[in-house]
Amino acid sequence: MPISPVRVRFAPSPTGRFHIGGARTALYDYLIARQTSGQFILRIEDTDRKRFVSGAEEELVESLHWLGIEWDEGPDVGGPYAPYRQSERTEIYKQHAHALVESGHAYYCFCSPERLSRVRQEMQKRKQPPRYDGTCRRLDPAEALARVDAGESHVVRFKTPRQGTTTAVDLLRGPINVENATLDDFILLKSDGLPVYHLAAMVDDHLMHITHVLRGSEWLPTFPLHVLIFQAFGWEQPTWVHLSVFLNPSGKGKLSKRQTLDPKSGVKAIHVLDLQEMAYLPEAVTNWIALMGWSYDDRTEQFSMLDLIQKFSLEKLVPSPAAVNFSKLDHFNGIYIRSLSLDDLVGRLRPHFEAAGLRPTVDQLRSIAPLIQERIRTLDDAVEIAGFFFHEHVEPDPVGLIGKNMDAEQSALAAEKAHQVITAQVSMDPDVMEPALRQLAESLELSAGQLFGILRMAVTGQKVSPPLIESLEVIGKQKVLERIDRAVQLLETLP
Ligand code: GLU
Repeated sequence: MPISPVRVRFAPSPTGRFHIGGARTALYDYLIARQTSGQFILRIEDTDRKRFVSGAEEELVESLHWLGIEWDEGPDVGGPYAPYRQSERTEIYKQHAHALVESGHAYYCFCSPERLSRVRQEMQKRKQPPRYDGTCRRLDPAEALARVDAGESHVVRFKTPRQGTTTAVDLLRGPINVENATLDDFILLKSDGLPVYHLAAMVDDHLMHITHVLRGSEWLPTFPLHVLIFQAFGWEQPTWVHLSVFLNPSGKGKLSKRQTLDPKSGVKAIHVLDLQEMAYLPEAVTNWIALMGWSYDDRTEQFSMLDLIQKFSLEKLVPSPAAVNFSKLDHFNGIYIRSLSLDDLVGRLRPHFEAAGLRPTVDQLRSIAPLIQERIRTLDDAVEIAGFFFHEHVEPDPVGLIGKNMDAEQSALAAEKAHQVITAQVSMDPDVMEPALRQLAESLELSAGQLFGILRMAVTGQKVSPPLIESLEVIGKQKVLERIDRAVQLLETLP
């Protein structure tokens, strides 16, 4: 476990929507930074202008704030190694690429795209892995420099050693050995002067004093190149940690970043803001994400952010891929909803009712929240099961008003009698109302379930609702009586 303060960075590229994979990396970064009183840095890797998506950076910032993941240094908050947006650091990468040329670890390449594609095709024909053939590697450095100075279009390529082995050490997987002869002379700086990831990220990780690099395991294939860059500069490497990939809920196939709702495979949403819109609690999402690739022990599952900060450890990360389990998210969400205080729950419910066009008062919400807290899975469920409290009228399905094993006439009679009993009560207090209605059921030779079923449909318009007797009190006497009247009318229209 790292005890000395770490410096970690989350380095997203603003190339699309922000998904749970990115959120997990950022969360783990944040946790070890807080645990060790270190720093968590947000760095925007936006040098690939072709893949740039406007609004992506805003979305990721909003998502991280919603999850409660805060950074110490970043484009918005600044810091000692600013700027933190790579498009504002292009001079730094250029200087470093040229320094590698000067030290003999890189070279200028003038090959045209047409020549390169011809070379690639020929290699493919010969069943060789396509790669650069090294033509410009053999140029005289002084002559190459003169061509650059004369303004000839060029890229900078890394001079990958032709002999020997590179050993790249991942914290979870141990050493990975690669024969250098199998590696390409990859591009560091493109002809437009912009760096590729391999150069920009390594330079920044060094200059920003990053101690631990946590990133997705899609970077494992190019990991040796990154080690070679560090070695070429003579820099000390950070600790490398490649996080596991996510699989579809079925356990088959990688979860695609572009995937959205797919009820067949059980995928609900993989973008953080969609989960917010689906009314999940950020605490539940964070807890759920934390366990995708990390476990504390075999038993404990519920972790607040504070618990995670105390208990998280890189050593307990699991490198093997894990299926994303959306029922687990529902499970956590239920747990967190039930653990909210009344005021907290009311505050979180309100915007969901408002989004549905309902305008409950705080007092109203305070009276219904305890009735639904045990029953909802997401905050949106609340609107579905408790919206009737705030509607002027409900419109029950007439047939649904018929009590179990009864006909329409008997049901109308039972509703009328209930109307009389409720009218006669001095209070809507459940302690008074419940025995009165149970007694009525008995006198009508009905079970309480039969009578309550009719009343539930009459006053809520739903087959399933929060506890009926308590709901009657919240709806209020006048509205309850109006709704029962309406139910009697509807029953009388039935044959
Ligand atoms: N910009 C890279 C990406 O979004 C970051 C990888 C890394 O963390 O080094 O995939």
